[in-house]
Amino acid sequence: MSAGLNLAQLQAVHYTEGPCLVLAGAGSGKTRVITHKIAKLIENGLAPKRIAAITFTNKAAAEMRERASGLIGRQAREVLVCTFHALGVRMVREDGHALGLKPQFSILDQDDVTGILKDCAGGTTDAATARQWQWTISGWKNNGWDARKALAMAKDDNDRSIALIMQRYEERLAAYQSVDFDDLIGMPMRLLKQHPEVREKWQRLLGHVLVDEYQDTNATQYELLKMLVGERAHFTAVGDDDQSIYGWRGATLDNLKKLPIDYPQLRLIKLEQNYRSTSAILRAANNVIQPNPKLFPKTLFSELGEGEPVRIVDCDTEEHEAERTVARIQSLRASHNPQPAWKDFAVLYRANHQAKPIEKALRKANIPYKVSGGTSFFDRAEIKDLCAWFRLWINNDDDPAFLRAITTPKRGIGHTTLGRLGEFSAQHKLSMFAALFNHMLEAVLPRKAHESVLEFGRYINDLEYRARQTLGAEASRAFMMEWLKEIGYEQHLYDSEDSESVAAARWTNVLEFCDWMVQRAGGTIDDAAGTTMQTETKSLLEVARNIALLSTISEREQEQDMVVLSTLHASKGLEWPHVVLAGVTEGMLPFKLDDDDGKQHKLSEATAERLQEERRLMYVGITRAQRTLAVSWTKRRKKGRDMVVTQPSRFIAEMGLDSATAREDPRAKLRALRDEFARKALSESSSSKP
Ligand code: ATP
Ligand code: MG
Repeated sequence: MSAGLNLAQLQAVHYTEGPCLVLAGAGSGKTRVITHKIAKLIENGLAPKRIAAITFTNKAAAEMRERASGLIGRQAREVLVCTFHALGVRMVREDGHALGLKPQFSILDQDDVTGILKDCAGGTTDAATARQWQWTISGWKNNGWDARKALAMAKDDNDRSIALIMQRYEERLAAYQSVDFDDLIGMPMRLLKQHPEVREKWQRLLGHVLVDEYQDTNATQYELLKMLVGERAHFTAVGDDDQSIYGWRGATLDNLKKLPIDYPQLRLIKLEQNYRSTSAILRAANNVIQPNPKLFPKTLFSELGEGEPVRIVDCDTEEHEAERTVARIQSLRASHNPQPAWKDFAVLYRANHQAKPIEKALRKANIPYKVSGGTSFFDRAEIKDLCAWFRLWINNDDDPAFLRAITTPKRGIGHTTLGRLGEFSAQHKLSMFAALFNHMLEAVLPRKAHESVLEFGRYINDLEYRARQTLGAEASRAFMMEWLKEIGYEQHLYDSEDSESVAAARWTNVLEFCDWMVQRAGGTIDDAAGTTMQTETKSLLEVARNIALLSTISEREQEQDMVVLSTLHASKGLEWPHVVLAGVTEGMLPFKLDDDDGKQHKLSEATAERLQEERRLMYVGITRAQRTLAVSWTKRRKKGRDMVVTQPSRFIAEMGLDSATAREDPRAKLRALRDEFARKALSESSSSKP
């Protein structure tokens, strides 16, 4: 078990009797410590289900479970490996009744939340303002504030009016038996704080808690963790202050500073060897992060050799940059032996919209790719439509789901009817679904409208009943197909899309989703967020419940041989042999900072802090690369309708490369491409021989 760990890593793995913090730079094997420590704890006799390992994304959780399985086999499946949010779902589902929540509560996604906020303000607000409120409220919640506290802390009228909206918002959510994302951390935290019996239950259950990417936890998560581990404080946190890139979402480095104070017995372990990148790449990374103030001094070295120099690629426009990126990928495929797979390449950028030109160039070159951290499978409209129906089966009081289901596909129930139903339900303090069956509704709606809404309500009840009786894979498949036919979903897709091929692609997604549900009903696959592993067959209603609860917070991941396009934020913790950082242009990375002229003087404190976070983002990007790294920038950039002249990011100079060797030579590209062409021609002619 101790194979493949250095001395410091072994120390971290073997120390299991108290709080432990592993603080170390990128690629030094922090995540590896967590996986090995899970194995060690089990070896020491701790039951797998008493171990919780908290990761930053579902993808990271899946990967960790897989690696742990590699070390200890099937037992790893029982370990609770999940994100903070998935852990929150489980806690609220088991114990939310203490806070007045039914186990069938719903989780609202961003769109639901903005909709409700608009509603709370009387419906006249535009989406941008509602999103702004959502942002503010989310920030308060991440600080552990409720509306009452926010009102008390309000600095001005604007704060006060948002706090009042938040109050109404909280009431709505309680009435809908719904929670938002932030509640998935805040509620468990309050549960543990206010209910000693719940706290004791969880503290007894969890023998050890491990947290990856600890630098990106927020204040509420800190509190939650603190209460989960209790006085015994059997936990392991691993992180890197230089990779803290979620400050804008409330993550705080205070959580690192507080640990040694709150836990004087804390064992601090530092790792210094980087096992990921070549020395050339690591040097560029160390140089970039160097100007930032040091929270904890760290050194990092690599024994993987100097490697190829880091390349700077000067481009004219984003299109040009995309072409050169593709050319680079092709030439690396041609020149490296053994030939790298497509999935060995990643193109990373600051903002989602930067993917577009790169996607176009990749398509043109017939290179398979996937955009990660972008629209996930579950964010697609068609999947959300179906999930809205499930949410409604599970929790009849989920009004946002009710509205989506009753209007998708359209069933001739108009806005006026729904408006009246909404008013009626608000007057009588009922959910819209419950209002359907109230005898007084008849007086409010025209006869025909009343009949059709009531019919919808009965249909939902009927579906719910049927789904409960539907057991196992085959029955579930039959049910799903029948249901989709009854509501005319395929036709709906063709009616609502101009292009047939788009409609067909969306329908394929639906079928794929059904397959995925059917497999779950058959009991062959583990839970989407990976919290549990079921081996027995399940009723379709049970499957729908898991999906409705998890769909909003999980991504579906597949290991496919594709080039990865990702934002820098979403690339955290991952690694690829070949990386291109695209769009490393002043104004994009660092992102435009208000009072910063690039000469780094006269910065306000806030701007200086943001610049530091941008620098950490660059550091994260560089340190994803194992063997080669290219950093590209464009001389001109689209800004609205205009093209503006741009400068290379200051971070490029800060990497401290030798400019004579670092600039990429386009002629070498051409040679490599010619070679690949020749090689392909050769292999085709040899494979076509009889
Ligand atoms: P990040 O800060 O980016 O999250 P990390 O510190 O979590 O990085 P890991 O992802 O755990 O680093 O490890 C980086 C790479 O080095 C992985 O491929 C891992 O398998 C490898 N590695 C880690 N420790 C060792 C070791 N002792 N011997 C050999 N390889 C190692
Ligand atoms: Mg890691």
